[in-house]
Amino acid sequence: MLLGQDPIQWEKDTLEKMTRLFCRAKHRRQNPCPQCRELITYARQRLDACRYGAQKPPCERCHIHCYKPIMRDRVKQVMRYAGPRMVIYYPLDALRHLVKKNAKV
Ligand SMILES: [Zn+2]
Repeated sequence: MLLGQDPIQWEKDTLEKMTRLFCRAKHRRQNPCPQCRELITYARQRLDACRYGAQKPPCERCHIHCYKPIMRDRVKQVMRYAGPRMVIYYPLDALRHLVKKNAKV
């Protein structure tokens, strides 16, 4: 396990941070709008149901693709927007994401 934190919890936190960045910029909301809150809740549920548990690979490399199509589209938009910005707002999380992405799982 990288950097000694539960990867599921970490993914939940990171996704929520990214969704908040996205919503603030795109939907002009200080707190996530209903649509973005729905995405955060949905992603948490998917992560809780993830059958890999603590061994889970990063979602973008997982071959199960457990998100339903509409949520997949939304999360992709969030990633596209917030991914590069995470380096500015949350450098440690962004770095960790890179390490994880390139690590052998
Ligand atoms: Zn929003």
